[in-house]
Amino acid sequence: MSLADLASQSVGRLPRVGFTGQKRLEAMGIRTLKDLLQHYPRRYIDRSKVVPIARLPYGEEATCIGRVERVEVKKPRPRLSILVVTVRDATGTADCVWFNQEFRAQDFSPGQEVAFSGRIDRFRHRLQIQNPSYDVISSDEEDSGLSNGSKAAAQVARGKAGPSLEVGRIVPVYPASARSRISSGYLRRLVWDALRILPPLEDPLPPEIRAELGLLDRYQAYRAIHFPDTLQQAERARKRLVVDEVLGLQLALRLMRNLAERDRTGIPHPINPPLLERFLAELPFELTADQRRVLEEIAADMASSKPMHRLLQGEVGSGKTVVAAAATCIAVAGGHQAALMAPTEVLAGQHFYGLLPWLEPHGVRMDLLTSSLAGHERRRVLDSVATGQTDLLVGTHALFQEGVVFRDLGLVIVDEQHRFGVHQRLAMRQKARTGKNPDVLIMTATPIPRTAALTFYGDLDVSTIESLPVGRKPIVTKVLQPQEESVAWSSVIEEARKGHQAFVVCPVIEESDKLEAAAAEAEFERLKNSVLSELRLGLLHGRMAPSERQDVMERFRRGEIDVLISTTIVEVGVDIPNATVIVVLSAERFGLAQLHQLRGRVGRGSAPGHCFLVASSAEAAGIERLKALEKTQSGIELAEIDLRLRGEGAVFGVRQTGRSDLKLTRLIEDALLIKRCREWAKQLLEEDPLLRAHPALRQELEVSYGEELEIASAS
Ligand code: ADP
Ligand code: MG
Repeated sequence: MSLADLASQSVGRLPRVGFTGQKRLEAMGIRTLKDLLQHYPRRYIDRSKVVPIARLPYGEEATCIGRVERVEVKKPRPRLSILVVTVRDATGTADCVWFNQEFRAQDFSPGQEVAFSGRIDRFRHRLQIQNPSYDVISSDEEDSGLSNGSKAAAQVARGKAGPSLEVGRIVPVYPASARSRISSGYLRRLVWDALRILPPLEDPLPPEIRAELGLLDRYQAYRAIHFPDTLQQAERARKRLVVDEVLGLQLALRLMRNLAERDRTGIPHPINPPLLERFLAELPFELTADQRRVLEEIAADMASSKPMHRLLQGEVGSGKTVVAAAATCIAVAGGHQAALMAPTEVLAGQHFYGLLPWLEPHGVRMDLLTSSLAGHERRRVLDSVATGQTDLLVGTHALFQEGVVFRDLGLVIVDEQHRFGVHQRLAMRQKARTGKNPDVLIMTATPIPRTAALTFYGDLDVSTIESLPVGRKPIVTKVLQPQEESVAWSSVIEEARKGHQAFVVCPVIEESDKLEAAAAEAEFERLKNSVLSELRLGLLHGRMAPSERQDVMERFRRGEIDVLISTTIVEVGVDIPNATVIVVLSAERFGLAQLHQLRGRVGRGSAPGHCFLVASSAEAAGIERLKALEKTQSGIELAEIDLRLRGEGAVFGVRQTGRSDLKLTRLIEDALLIKRCREWAKQLLEEDPLLRAHPALRQELEVSYGEELEIASAS
């Protein structure tokens, strides 16, 4: 049996999965047996190393397991809440404590068995663990995994299940979801059942690759990552599965490039056409040396009859958009159309209105296609694109999913900002396969650590803009405790008096954009009715209608709003040269690279920029980490610190598509392995460009990377 086969088998096949269970698993993204096996443990509890509460070592890190006795939230003063979860085992009790993290209360209920790890402390004669990490092992009534399952039934099930999965071994702890009501214990049991029932998995990895690094066989690896005998064994299994992930991604990216190039050549665009020269001559500034070099690289690719696959890397404000506009001129001069895709509607609008005054005077006809565009106007744009009236179409990444037909598309520019849209990239190439092979330019403002760049962009040639346009001053950054918040507001007011503008960014709430919007609204009200009452405030969040958002942005751009209070949607590239201050609230919840992106929003004009990072409480963890932003202006340096301290999940975010393909890979720790995988992928495809000799490997790529590859390979 192959992994691809498992992708077509529903989890409903498993004995313990009934209708409800299946629905709940699906809500967590677990549909097939492959999904289940790739729902890897978040961590392991080494049950042999657990300490009874009475013997917890004061001042040291330790793990204990107990039943939750009480869950309590105290509010000793405004803006401070303390969550106390008391646990008991046979030897004693301990208090687990969190500050201003009330939301965690929903993870606990009395009677649950929970493992806590953290530094053991003492407070008023009671054992205390502050901010422990924790895993719910089981709840009284939850042994079957379904919160409404009866206890008796669960016990019967357990009796039949054979060995205990919770005691006397290394226990895998799964990412579970309180919302979908699936527990870690239930998942543990399901994975166990799946591994017991399934025949051994075939291994498509060429044996010479496995031999070189002494990698486990795939089936062994799946068993060992879920139920390891030792932690070392789990790590060996992880290594093997990392190879599957990274090699798969590299092969998919390169295979797609090979397929795209196989039977069609690219477009030889003109070299230095008059349109480009006019465009450059009439810019209000000179290109920097970096911009000129990068433009030459792009122009050379475009002139060649091989299609361009280039990544244009440069920090926010480094001037990538001008370069993209120049590339557009090259394509349009040769009689082709260009498409520019942005990750959000706000940003698409921003690009459109930003480029309009540069390009239209030279006769480049532009249109903007957003999802809010409807009816007659939408049809007009689609017609105009289809007949070739439109030279440059600007829209979101959905452009290619919306049935847009170009008459003669010669250049696709994708502004990914800091997302890694691997799937979108593959889909786009596939869509673009009708007709000629357009040149593809991907822009990213990341800063991406080098290993990450190689991993996600292994199929691309890279151009980098390193220096910012002259005259740009570093952004003065200050980390503030909550009680020092007024420093930030004074600066906002002072700048507003000089006619400048400010951003206030409210924290992301990953779990719910409804809560996120509510938080932004609350902040808006608070500021409007207190410190910032004399200024004109605007509110922007993801729950607002696109047209409403566009309207707020427009008013901010025109200077009718002094302070824009928003969720992180401003992060993805808003160019307001008049904005000089950015205040980020609960800043410790953001990654450093993300904060760096955010502060790049200000100081884009001639006046210097200020960035204030306000922590949510004096006790908040991670305030120290924020200080790195006071010290360096290098985005790459910050991204690397982030990656080291917080791991890739935190850096790239769960919402990002590219991430979902690399569940186990750790970009820093696995750097060498990633490098080897890139080399293997290159070598495999040089010998065999369409992987004909490795049907199993190829079938797997089709399953993981979807239709795009499948259609392409059938042709
Ligand atoms: P990015 O797309 O990389 O974030 P932009 O292209 O939006 O950056 O450029 C940021 C700002 O700098 C814009 O206002 C742009 O007009 C300006 N700019 C770009 N290149 C230069 C340059 N060579 N000299 C002066 N200003 C520039
Ligand atoms: Mg070309």
